[in-house]
Amino acid sequence: MSPELILINPWIYDFAAYDLWSKPLGLLYIAGYLKRCGYQVHLIDCLDVYHPGMKSPSQKPFPTRRVYGTGKFWRERTVKPLPFQAIPRTYSRYGISRQLFINELQKIQNPAAILLTSLMTYWYPGLKEAISLAKKIHPGVPVLAGGIYTRLCTEHAQRCLGADRIVTDLDLNNLGSLLDILKEYGVPLSKNEDVKNDLPYPAFDMLSHIDYICIATSIGCPYHCQYCASRYLNPSFIKRDPVHVLDEILYWHKDFGIQDIAFYDDALLVDSRNHVGLILEELIRGKVNIRFHTPNALHVKEISPEMATLLKRSGFRSIRLGLETSNIKEHDDLDHKLSEGDFERAVKNLQKAGFIKKDIGTYILMGLPGQSVESVAETISFVGRVGAVPYLAEYSPIPHTPLWDKACAYSPYDLESEPLFHNNTIFPCWDEEKKEKVPGLKKLAMEIRQSD
Ligand code: SF4
Repeated sequence: MSPELILINPWIYDFAAYDLWSKPLGLLYIAGYLKRCGYQVHLIDCLDVYHPGMKSPSQKPFPTRRVYGTGKFWRERTVKPLPFQAIPRTYSRYGISRQLFINELQKIQNPAAILLTSLMTYWYPGLKEAISLAKKIHPGVPVLAGGIYTRLCTEHAQRCLGADRIVTDLDLNNLGSLLDILKEYGVPLSKNEDVKNDLPYPAFDMLSHIDYICIATSIGCPYHCQYCASRYLNPSFIKRDPVHVLDEILYWHKDFGIQDIAFYDDALLVDSRNHVGLILEELIRGKVNIRFHTPNALHVKEISPEMATLLKRSGFRSIRLGLETSNIKEHDDLDHKLSEGDFERAVKNLQKAGFIKKDIGTYILMGLPGQSVESVAETISFVGRVGAVPYLAEYSPIPHTPLWDKACAYSPYDLESEPLFHNNTIFPCWDEEKKEKVPGLKKLAMEIRQSD
């Protein structure tokens, strides 16, 4: 019998969470890879909305699902951690019940290792709880934790998670190194060692239901925005072979009937002529009917008339543009990704290509250290005037980003030692006076979203 491995996508602990095409893509790649290597892989997705064990009549009503596969998660109110006691918001564990997670762990009799992923730094309580339960149910089995939080807050993860190993150097282009790590913990190599560095499709087929799939045509980003960790997490901008990406899209569409695909790229449209443009043209030629979504923003500068037409014709539905602020001086300080007139031009091109106002969502950063409320309000109004709809993105301070030191200096919270304080719901870098004006900003953005 080949060794059994448990892969876990842990719960989210937060004031709010929403499934906006959220899937643990890295973990699914690892699952696909380990399966191909011959291991028996068991995936426990704590955020599985469709888990059969959650559908019994005794459970709460099914979480509301919305268009294109997005929607709510299961949710259970829970006690707020001490640092949040003064925050007048309910705090919840999002995902399947604790008992169901325990049942899932108990089903696997003899795992050789347990691997967990992580995402936002302030969601670590879900990871910590999953590790603690895994260790209780499978004592002596090595537990390995990786993912974004462990890379951004390595020392914190080493100190507080209770994992046997914090894995910070795993590269999806070289997953053979994972086999070496497993070997260190006495997990025998599987039968198919020859596939060591060959990356298969992420194992969406191991999920209990597939509403949509996520895909990355590239890793990393050539920009270096002060508030973003993309450069730290992926120092190089690497594009996948467009032919392989196209094959992957067609595989999920034809074999699994997938209609909705979310791009996870940080820089989808950069060098589009030689990359994503080729993929989209091929999809148009083949009359492939898929709806594409861009939860990570598109670069405003890249929306030429030709690109806007290509996006429309190839089936993009939910466009999200990364504007952040309408103040060009602020762009000079923060990201250099926009010049005067770029946003207006991009929106015009999208409108000419057939997108209507509500299709053109625009992210606006709110809560940056030193940012004024007036600047956010002006940006919201600007987006409405230009003909797009504003979406406020609350700033979360991220370790290892250029803006981190400034965030720490502005924050009344101890961001360095407690990642819970990175939570954007508490606006860690804004004072009370500014926070009091947040409902007004949200109302303004909502009014523009709801207007014609
Ligand atoms: S914010 Fe966007 S454009 Fe800027 S570095 Fe991050 S991914 Fe790239």
